Amino acid sequence: MENDKLSIEVADLTVAYHDKPVLWDIDLSVPPGVLMAIVGPNGAGKTTLIKSILGLVKPAAGQVLIYGKPYEEQRNLVGYVPQRGSVDWDFPTSVLDVVMMGRYRALGWIKRPGKKERDTAMEALDKVGMGDFINRQISQLSGGQQQRVFLARALVQDAEIYFMDEPFQGVDATTERAIITLLRELRAEGKTVVVVHHDLQTVTEYFDWVTLINVRRIASGTVDEAFTEQNLRLAYGGRVAFLSHKQKQSDQVGSKQQG
Ligand code: ADP
Repeated sequence: MENDKLSIEVADLTVAYHDKPVLWDIDLSVPPGVLMAIVGPNGAGKTTLIKSILGLVKPAAGQVLIYGKPYEEQRNLVGYVPQRGSVDWDFPTSVLDVVMMGRYRALGWIKRPGKKERDTAMEALDKVGMGDFINRQISQLSGGQQQRVFLARALVQDAEIYFMDEPFQGVDATTERAIITLLRELRAEGKTVVVVHHDLQTVTEYFDWVTLINVRRIASGTVDEAFTEQNLRLAYGGRVAFLSHKQKQSDQVGSKQQG
């Protein structure tokens, strides 16, 4: 542990809800500047893993380091886009306010946001194609638009590491393209982006790192090394029918067909 060359380091992480372990003895070493998918079946513990790295869930055991230090000391380096379903969209607030809230932590709660913060928020909203919606109430946006607003909010945090929980959930193809372009831009700037991802078909196209979990860590590393048919079987059991399709596109997933 304590390697400050790594963006995220997780050691022996165990998390339980009501005494039932949902993550067991997880180790992860993530270098900076990667775009990493976290994949695994429903209930595998993907959201819990992100939440425990962010200190939102208290682990039963283990240690998490962000650039070599505990999260509490590195909060300003971390941006988080939660699952859309976990946010109260009826909260009466405008698009611009939601994005400016992303700056509060950097500003401190005492100082009111001013023109600079407004400009930064506007810039981020333009970047995600939401510049025309600044005064709209967040409850009056489509799912894809809400997701873009939350991305803009993360962007203004100007973090080094981003955690995004299913950012492609319920968005149309255009929004998905816009989001992946943005994530690639972040990576090009040397940021680390960690994404809980459901669509196994797009893992090799979108990501360069992947972590497969199912309560335990199955594999973690480059997509070439870790996203193998064997590891997918370990994570998903027999339910990997997509492989017969996938296999045509990529040799990484092994040679066997799965019916
Ligand atoms: P994933 O994101 O991979 O679908 P989660 O991390 O959401 O999985 O959940 C992992 C397991 O923990 C599931 O069995 C889920 O039912 C359980 N779980 C998640 N949150 C809670 C909670 N707040 N209280 C009790 N159990 C929970």
